[in-house]
Amino acid sequence: MVKCQVVMDALERIAPKRLAEDWDNPGLLVGALNQDIHKILVCLDVSDEVVEQAVASGADMIVAHHPLIFKGIRKVRTDLPLGRRLQQLLKHDIAVAAAHTNLDIAEGGVNDVLAQAIGLTKLSAFVIEHQEEDGSVVSMGRVGSLPAPMTVQDFAAQVRDALPTEHVRLVDAGQRPVRKVAICSGSGAEFIQRAAFVGADVYVTGDVKYHEAQQAVELGLHIIDAGHFGTEFPVVTALCERLTAELELAKGTVEVIADQSSRDFFQVV
Ligand SMILES: [Zn+2]
Repeated sequence: MVKCQVVMDALERIAPKRLAEDWDNPGLLVGALNQDIHKILVCLDVSDEVVEQAVASGADMIVAHHPLIFKGIRKVRTDLPLGRRLQQLLKHDIAVAAAHTNLDIAEGGVNDVLAQAIGLTKLSAFVIEHQEEDGSVVSMGRVGSLPAPMTVQDFAAQVRDALPTEHVRLVDAGQRPVRKVAICSGSGAEFIQRAAFVGADVYVTGDVKYHEAQQAVELGLHIIDAGHFGTEFPVVTALCERLTAELELAKGTVEVIADQSSRDFFQVV
């Protein structure tokens, strides 16, 4: 058993809150810092299924990527999804913490896990947020290299096979082999122009819309849309391992498990 504060300290070492975007809401969202924690369930979303999983497995804390509470709450209606989930969590004394854009940005976070999964090396900054006091650059997304140039079709298949998705959507911008790859996990369409500007051959992200695909083609940039879920879910296992290691250092006897059952909302039929 460890105090919730010890888990939050470990999470802070993995994904410092100061890295988060201003509009974000990371940190402890439900529960108390002095609450005892025996078992942690790591997930992408605090869905009803994840809450059920936590209850069934005896987890007393959920650590999620997406914040359960994002904007201000003006009512807690237990006949609506969020209120019902909060009711379940409080009833079972389950704490909830989130590491969102701070985990996207952090070293070893969502983007580094994605880069490694799809075979990128020589990683550098993509969308620079700011420079730290020690001179290191804090960046959303990454730019990396493939060991050798390949066709975008082959790379798209490689990305699909590496991620928890059965398909990717390829925006083929014409005859351009790919080697330099920009990535942004989750929803990164706003950085298409930036990906072209840094000289990437292909941009791997999720949630790309029609006119954004059009913009990429006009810029001569291939896009592989591997989905919001597909680009982010691999961090669940990685975060589970990091938390386990950090909490071992804290000499706490707490079990950390990864959500294995969540699936993408989208299916292709
Ligand atoms: Zn996301």
